[in-house]
This record gives sequence, structure tokens and C-alpha cells, in this order.
Amino acid sequence: MKAVFACALVLLSLVSPSARAAAQRQLTYTVEAVPRRSGLRLSVDLSFSGGETGHTRLHLPSHFSGQRELYKNVQGLTAVSPGVTLADTDAPDVKRVTFLPGQTVHLHYEVAADESSPSGQPGAYFRPALQAAYFHFIGTTVWAYPAQYGKPLLVTLHWKLPTGWAFCDSFGASPADQQFGGTLEQFLETVYVGGDFRVLTVQASGRPVTVALRGKWKFSDSDFAALAGRIVATERDFWRDQNFPYYLVTLIPAEQPAHLGSDDGGVELTHSVALFQTKGRPLDVELKYVLAHELFHEWNADQMQTGDAPLYWFSEGFTDYYARLLLLRGGLISLEEYARGFNTLLREYAESPDRNRRGEEAARGFYSGTALARLPYQQGALLAAHWNAAIRSATSDARSLDDVLRDLKAAAAPVTADAVAAALRHYGVPDAAGEVARIIESGETLAADPRALGPGFTLHTKKMPQFELGFDGAATMARRTVAGVKPGSRAYWAGLRDGQEVLSCAPFVVGDPNQRLSLTVRDSAGMKDVEFTPVGDSLPVPQYARDKGAATNGACLAWFGNLPGAAGH
Ligand SMILES: [Zn+2]
Repeated sequence: MKAVFACALVLLSLVSPSARAAAQRQLTYTVEAVPRRSGLRLSVDLSFSGGETGHTRLHLPSHFSGQRELYKNVQGLTAVSPGVTLADTDAPDVKRVTFLPGQTVHLHYEVAADESSPSGQPGAYFRPALQAAYFHFIGTTVWAYPAQYGKPLLVTLHWKLPTGWAFCDSFGASPADQQFGGTLEQFLETVYVGGDFRVLTVQASGRPVTVALRGKWKFSDSDFAALAGRIVATERDFWRDQNFPYYLVTLIPAEQPAHLGSDDGGVELTHSVALFQTKGRPLDVELKYVLAHELFHEWNADQMQTGDAPLYWFSEGFTDYYARLLLLRGGLISLEEYARGFNTLLREYAESPDRNRRGEEAARGFYSGTALARLPYQQGALLAAHWNAAIRSATSDARSLDDVLRDLKAAAAPVTADAVAAALRHYGVPDAAGEVARIIESGETLAADPRALGPGFTLHTKKMPQFELGFDGAATMARRTVAGVKPGSRAYWAGLRDGQEVLSCAPFVVGDPNQRLSLTVRDSAGMKDVEFTPVGDSLPVPQYARDKGAATNGACLAWFGNLPGAAGH
């Protein structure tokens, strides 16, 4: 997932290099990490030129990826320069700063660990982690900044760290003075780690990729670094874009005391990807997928212009499709793993209670954290596979969806539904606009394309047991009290009832009906263990199966790989 700030990027490109220095707003941050018994404090000195108006608005950290009230972590905000004053406004995350025209404004503040730590909540890892032994934070959650009015920035960062601390951030692996020029959004969407992180650097197509991780995993650091390097190289090759002097991948364990389901996450940032994964997890297909998905956002949609309305089925759905496809092309997953992933996607789409919701509802529900939020991913990935097959068939395998993506990125126009349809029409797909109107906008069910997995696979319909949790997982997790138990479900027959207190719950995978769920709950009758299989009614689901004796593995892989007719090959 990734917000896109196309307007800011356009503004930057309009400023000529010579005019840039004068038009840039210079911000200087000096950051000291001060370990305390209670955790780490970040002591931040911010200075900037106040401008001629004599006043500006100072924005404090506010929200990021579902986490709110981040300004509550900011303490002791004071004006260091004489004559500068700070005043509250109606908004708790905005202060009014007054100064003499042209004066340099120097402010000081500290950021402390969350007082009321929401560490059990989903996505809490997006908040700054400030511990005695390390820090990990996203720029948005720590940097205060003066109102910008669209000006590009020139930011200087000075770091003061305890002796022996490892360090890296989105700008480099050295805490010596760092400089960054770009937009405010690019500056805020960054990751910073220091302390007991293990830092490794590998080369991807001759350019350094740095990996910083902490915590215990079921894989070695060097295996993770090698994987990151290979995924980065595969995706840069796909886009024919090697313009990356530096790239950072961070990985930290997600802490989840009130664990219900998994809360794995990742976010694509400026020159970097930050991953948050369940403690101790293996280097499996899903972890590879998360990394490939987030990295792909570097181009889709960061390096593409976006239209006025978010095009989630394109930015997320196409990214989903290519994340798996490029893992296969890069030899990082097997044909069987690819097919299994695709079949899981089909099953989730078939089971989704929100499959037929209209596009505007899906867009509104994108940050809802429910099945509705997944719909654009499912629709977009299935449409991508369908259109790829249609292009292959219309061009006798000379062209593929790869060409459409590269054309859209090269075009100096916003990527809208119409632009995608026009690009597809160019490669022999006549009515993509109609398909978007029916499937995305009206919410019609998209039938799986029998050609989508190439010559070695056939599409069947299989009766499959449906995943059914049998209670409201999100509400139960939030209050640690069982809620929304469905009468007649396996959860109900196992003894789960609304109002029971949840004492513990073993981790489980949402969507997988082939597992045992086990919870310990307490009610008026005392404590009890509840165990059940989260399975509901069976449902007919389209699934691909490998044809025995048909195309060889090599022929199947060749079909998924780069095409002989594609430009540059
Ligand atoms: Zn995404």
C-alpha cells in the first residue's frame, strides 16, 4: 500500500535546476538519540529561514497508515531563537510560529516512546519504535516541518548517536551529514533505523542494496539480503531502470501481545522499503511476495503520473499480479508456488462477501481493513492476468502486458482507466474500457480466464470448503472480548459466545480453512479452551491445475518469461 503524491512531483519537475536552489526551502534537523532507562528519546533541533511574512504554520506529526494522534509523542516544543514565538491553533497538530521577517527560526522538541503504547493494535509498528537499544521510525511520525506551499525542499540531517550504534536511513548508511533534495512527501516518506540493527550490503546490477534487520528469524541475514538483492535486480530489469545509487530494505518483528491472526505489513518509501513481519517467520513465498509487491510500487505508481481519482485496481492489483510473476521470472518461486498463489487469489475473490460492490464503495473502503479493502487487489490482478492472455493471443505471443505497463510509464500523461484501456487497445484488446465499467465500476463478477496460466494449466471448477472464522476477528481483537459469533458456525458449536474474555489465541492465517484455531476464553462458568476448524459451507471455485503430460516445465516457464518479440530482447 502506498499513497501517491503526483502533484508534488509535478511541481518539482517544473523548477529548473538553476532556479531550484533559490526556490528551495532549506530545513536543517539535528537529531540526537538519547537512551534512557524508560526508552529512547529523540532530541530534535529544527532550523529554517522564516521568510518575509513573519509567521508560518508548523506541522507536527499527525497520522500515518491508520495510526493517529502522533503529535502526542512530541514533547517540550520550544523556540530557541530569541524573538520567535509559538502559539496553539485549533488543530492539535498545527502551531503558529511568529518571527522577524527573514529571521532564521530555530526550534527544539523531543519525541518519546508512546505513553499509552498501542502495541497490541493492528499496524502499531507504523508508530515510532524508540527503545533503549534501538530506534525505527517513519519520517512522517517524527518530523515537524513549516508549511511549504508546494516549495521543494533541501533537507540537511545531522545525527548524534551513542557510540557503536549501527545506523541507516532512506538517504544512506552513514550518519555523517546527509542532504536530500525533493518534495515534502518524499522527505516524510522515509525510514530511519539505529542501534542494534544488523546491516548488510549486497549488489543489485552493480548498485548497492542495504538491508537492516533486527530480531530472530528462521533464515540467515545473508539469505535475506541475497533475496532482497535478487528481487530488486529482477524488478529494475523489468522496468529497464538502473538509476538507483542507493536502496534500503528494513525488516523488524511485529510485536503482537493481543494476537489474533497475523499483522504482517510493509510500506514502500523514498529509496526504501520497510517491512514488519510476524516474529520468527520463515523466508517463505509470502515474505518474498510482500517484498516484491512493495518494491514494485517504486514504479507503479510512484514513477507514474496519477489521475484525480485513485486507481487502486491498477496501482495495487497490477502490482499484486507482477509481484508474483517477477518472483517466478527471477527463479525465486517455483511454477507450483506461482499457481498456488494464483489459485488462492481466485478462492479469496470467490469467497469475498464484497465481490460485487461498486467501484466507488471499494475506493471508500480501501483503508477499512476489511475484505472490501482487498477487492481492488483481487480485481486488478485477475484483470491483469486476463488482459495479458488476451494480448498474447491477439499478437501470437509477440507482446504481453509488460508492454502496456512500460508504455504507461513512458507516457507523459496521467494513468487513468481510459489511458489503460487505450494502451491495451494498441495491443489488440478492444474493449478494456467496457470491462472496467462492468467489473470495477458496477461490481460484476470477473470470470477467470482459462488462458491466464499459459499452455501447461487447465481451468477447473472445484467445490472448496470456505474459510469462516465464525466470529468478528477485528472487534474481538480490539476489545479482547469475543464478538459477532455466528450461530451454527464451527466457532459457535465449539463453545465460543459473545462477551467471553479472550485470555489467549494462537496465531492463525485468515483465509485458510485447513487449520485448527485455539483460544482460551473466560466467562461466568470459568476458563475454557476452545478449538475448532474455521470452515463454513463449500463453494464452487475456479482453480488452475497442471496438465499431466502437456507442456514441459521449461515450456511453461518460457511462456511466463520475457518474450522473444518484446522490445530490447
Ligand atoms: Zn501495495
